[in-house]
Amino acid sequence: MNVKVDEALYVIERVRHLTESTYVLRFSRNGMEFNPGQHLVLGLPGSSELREYSIYSGIHDDFLEVLIKEVDDGVVSRQLKSIKPGDKLEVRGPYGFFLTESGISRPARLLFISSGTGIAPFHSYIRSNPEVDYQVIHGVRKMEEAYDIRHYKKGSLQVCTSRDNQGDFEGRLTDYLLEVDIDSHRQVYLCGNSNMIFDAMDILRARGIPQRQIFTEVYF
Ligand SMILES: Cc1cc2nc3c(=O)[nH]c(=O)nc-3n(C[C@H](O)[C@H](O)[C@H](O)COP(=O)(O)OP(=O)(O)OC[C@H]3O[C@@H](n4cnc5c(N)ncnc54)[C@H](O)[C@@H]3O)c2cc1C
Repeated sequence: MNVKVDEALYVIERVRHLTESTYVLRFSRNGMEFNPGQHLVLGLPGSSELREYSIYSGIHDDFLEVLIKEVDDGVVSRQLKSIKPGDKLEVRGPYGFFLTESGISRPARLLFISSGTGIAPFHSYIRSNPEVDYQVIHGVRKMEEAYDIRHYKKGSLQVCTSRDNQGDFEGRLTDYLLEVDIDSHRQVYLCGNSNMIFDAMDILRARGIPQRQIFTEVYF
């Protein structure tokens, strides 16, 4: 039975540590309905400290997942890192309109641009719509931060690594955007830190992508 859930305690089912600082929390879905691109507000039960996290799992999964990077001196990203299966999590939402505000039409040609854990909403969208025509550009420091690369169609993910040479492109994502051919008919979605988003938007506009085809979600 599908029930609308606004705020409730959810049970942690699994914690997957992808790097020393980044992890995926999987928890009970409790019938929650959501659209890829939406986020949840999470925290330890009873805590006044709650933060937003994009949904990482797909709409057909019978669980919910989020991808979290522990931030140096961060409160919630650090608290949640030590959570264990069976523990409870306070969950509010889903909230937001990223990926739905634009009303992605089918068949759409999509370009997803992300830094760090900003790949989460795109992972959810692709997992929910595996047949869609997409390209992902992911900016990370090191290749180990190219999370779950096997979940993306071969040839559809370009990883830009700024601090090692193990990616498809050695350098910043914005340098890659300056060099690569960009299909000006794609709808472009950007997610991650604001510096990357503002710089990338300037480059995209200069390269002929109309503003009406660009959509953003800023994490910090
Ligand atoms: C709509 C939305 C969706 C988000 N989705 C995700 C997600 O899927 N995964 C995820 O890991 N985070 C996501 N965030 C960021 C998240 O909400 C928190 O800001 C982050 O986890 C830090 O919280 P904290 O309590 O640990 O640190 P705080 O104690 O709140 O902050 C510490 C400092 O770290 C800065 N900061 C915040 N995030 C980062 C970061 N990633 N890297 C470096 N510095 C940072 C803050 O600006 C602040 O100055 C999202 C934010 C928004 C607004």
